[in-house]
Amino acid sequence: MKVLFAAAEIHPYAKSGGLADVSQSLPNALSAAVEITAVMPLYGSIDPAHHAIRATDLHFDVSVGDSRHPVRIHEAQNDGVATLFVDAPGFGDRHGLYGDATGEYPDNDLRFGIFCAAVVELAQRFGSDVLHLNDWHTAPAALWAREKRLKARVIYTIHNLAYQGVFEAQSLQRLGWSRDYFTMDMLEFYGRVNWMKAGIAFSDRVTTVSPAYAQEILTPEFGCGLDGFLSGYRHKLSGIVNGIDTGHFDPERDPSLFCNYGPDDPEGKKKNKHALVQSYAYKDPERPLLIMVTRLVHQKGIDLVLEAIEMLLALPVNLLMLGEGDEHYRLQLEGASARHENFVILFGYDEALSHRIYAAGDILLMPSLFEPCGLNQLIAMHYGTLPVVHCVGGLKDTVHDVDIADKEACGRGIVFETAKPEALTHAVKRALALLENPERFAQVMRRNMECDFSFKSSAERYLELYRSELEPKDGSSRVKRK
Ligand code: ADP
Repeated sequence: MKVLFAAAEIHPYAKSGGLADVSQSLPNALSAAVEITAVMPLYGSIDPAHHAIRATDLHFDVSVGDSRHPVRIHEAQNDGVATLFVDAPGFGDRHGLYGDATGEYPDNDLRFGIFCAAVVELAQRFGSDVLHLNDWHTAPAALWAREKRLKARVIYTIHNLAYQGVFEAQSLQRLGWSRDYFTMDMLEFYGRVNWMKAGIAFSDRVTTVSPAYAQEILTPEFGCGLDGFLSGYRHKLSGIVNGIDTGHFDPERDPSLFCNYGPDDPEGKKKNKHALVQSYAYKDPERPLLIMVTRLVHQKGIDLVLEAIEMLLALPVNLLMLGEGDEHYRLQLEGASARHENFVILFGYDEALSHRIYAAGDILLMPSLFEPCGLNQLIAMHYGTLPVVHCVGGLKDTVHDVDIADKEACGRGIVFETAKPEALTHAVKRALALLENPERFAQVMRRNMECDFSFKSSAERYLELYRSELEPKDGSSRVKRK
């Protein structure tokens, strides 16, 4: 089976969030069973020499709207997965993935339109059986695959419904799309063009990154304006929970840590905490360490944390937050940190530091208002850090409350139901109470650290999905199995 997997971000080449992690780990996990090639744009921020990316002989023009655009394909191996880079106008000359300090690039429709046209061309040339698209940046490929009668079955994965790729109506013409598509049941969205709708409407199957989120997005609360539209496609919608790359996130081998440790070595985890907290001026470094590693955006519950901050910091804890994002959060968090000696906020995106924080933390706060899957809680559990999560989406699917689930020995953290400061604070108090019971805490931590959070079982679900799409009704397979 030949699979082409297209995404706007793939770790380690470009990452703004979990999409990049998944777009590395999933093809990697699938590569044992299928012939998979990943493809992404060649952004100006990617240093080809650093990543051993080389130009190939493959180059062609793609037509988007009235224009033709030259495309050259580059290639690298990413943990054994052939990864292609589309070198096309609008990417190489810019450092941002989607925008810069002044906002989103105004020609994102054309940039990612060219990328998608190249993806479809590649799928055609490779004779791909499955074209796996991810998020709005790749959605036009579903429409073009349908127009060009591509042999490949098209899977479209929604990693976050909140980002839909919405453009002015003129964009229709720029991309050369017929006005016939500009209806409510296809691309039209309040007078504008919505790419997410294209991905949903024109793909053969739609997945989200957790079963709970697949259900939630059918409701007005989580549907981001598309719940009604999505309900029309519920027959092809399902959820498969993400995993993490346990090779990259491995406390026993992680080169970023002060000291490696495993489930049998809780002292090793403590050494990481001591080494990290001493870099910051906490008055009492021995206190339980609450951590957050997050984009500073509304989704992640930053407002909730700010509302609860006085209550949280009145508890006998230290809080360490690493984040990048909205400026107004930065100012408010800086203000709170200046008022409280037990709160350190670090701004920026720092992969190695994030690993040290996961290793050092006692408790991870993840109060997301909605969460398609969430990787932080999986990483935290793998590093023996207790997650405190809001009961939404993938958090609901992956973290079971210790007080509710422990009878079946499957409790993994603390889950709170309502996005209210009191509920968050109460959840943290419950986490602290668990910490004070070392035997029970150690039991939960060991259970979490020994759990397989890798992409293995998720990859099996995707494989089943691919196969079910390729099996014709009469049972004779359309393709040979690898
Ligand atoms: P999202 O994709 O919505 O941001 P996920 O939980 O799916 O959230 O994935 C977030 C990923 O990005 C995790 O690997 C997390 O550790 C990482 N991350 C988030 N913010 C930072 C940061 N400031 N520095 C380093 N890593 C970060």
